[in-house]
Amino acid sequence: MNDIFNFSAGPAVLPKKVLQQVQSELVDYLSPDGNVGVSVMEMSHRSAAFMDIATRAEADLRTLLAIPDNYKILFLQGGATLQFSAIPLNLAAAGDRVDYVHTGQWANKAIKEAKRYADVNIIASAENTNFTSVPDIANWQFSDNSKYVHTTHNETIGGVCFDGIPDVGERILVSDMSSCILSEPLDVSRFGLIYAGAQKNIGPAGLTIVIVRDDLLGNARQECPTLLNYQTHADADSMNNTPPTFAWYMAGKVFSHLLAEGGLAAAKQRNQLKAELLYKTIDDSSFYQNPVALANRSIMNVPFTLANAELDSLFLNQAKAAGLVELKGHRSVGGMRASIYNAMPLEGVQALCDFMEKFEKENG
Ligand SMILES: *Cc1c(COP(=O)(O)O)cnc(C)c1O
Repeated sequence: MNDIFNFSAGPAVLPKKVLQQVQSELVDYLSPDGNVGVSVMEMSHRSAAFMDIATRAEADLRTLLAIPDNYKILFLQGGATLQFSAIPLNLAAAGDRVDYVHTGQWANKAIKEAKRYADVNIIASAENTNFTSVPDIANWQFSDNSKYVHTTHNETIGGVCFDGIPDVGERILVSDMSSCILSEPLDVSRFGLIYAGAQKNIGPAGLTIVIVRDDLLGNARQECPTLLNYQTHADADSMNNTPPTFAWYMAGKVFSHLLAEGGLAAAKQRNQLKAELLYKTIDDSSFYQNPVALANRSIMNVPFTLANAELDSLFLNQAKAAGLVELKGHRSVGGMRASIYNAMPLEGVQALCDFMEKFEKENG
């Protein structure tokens, strides 16, 4: 059990220390004031013990990302996918123009959903590179009057990431950061809204984080469901209805763990080291290949193919036997994908690289 390395794209690996700490207080939560006698799962979200968990999680996330005071942090349900609808419902009136950058499968899903509610302009698309790069911002065809510009900062399936934050001038930048949030420091002030499902880099599934500039609140259209209205959640500290309490608690554990490990600058260093190691193994061989433009290679999700696709299942079986699991690429892309989120230790990536070199020697 101990030697398993989990490369799942999500729900994904969590820090072992966090899991162990959660285990130790699963039945009887140890609050800063002592044992509570019940599990976090059994507590009222309005209890003092849970309010303390919630407040500290929010404060730690604010510290980690240096989130300015004029941004609200919302702890929601429905996944990043529900935000595909919430964003146009909150930020645009029916028929309003909204700009989207098409970088791959997650961007495409956001676009499809937004089209139900707004006049979507696809201002740039990476289709001409088969979604292996991010379109050069010099060629983005911004609308004159769009309510926001939407990007998918890291395409989890394609392994394609923005090289820095795009400069959209005075426009409102909205970004899906599900698979890259907390992987490195981020200048939140450059965005109007950031959203992320928790199950990649934050915690268990069931929690979605929205970070929104407060001047963007209060503009939801009339027919926007109450629970999709950001103002509802901002007014109620994300407790208008029952929040995903256990996921919120675990996210808080991950935030304080990250702070203890040196914050996001240190996380970035660890992540870059891991990614460099894996990309070097791919690039140094003629057996493995990654198609993504160098500047847009994700440090979180690394897809790669074998020279001979007939060897895919042998690769996956032997990898699994070696304790390297969940390496199968997305069904639409084929090949392999190693997701190497914050909680993947360097030893896991090293073990994968060693395995890949051995497999190539034996089968290349
Ligand atoms: C996983 C993912 C989603 C979907 O998240 P859900 O929580 O399943 O709705 C959306 N966007 C990106 C970039 C993702 O990686």
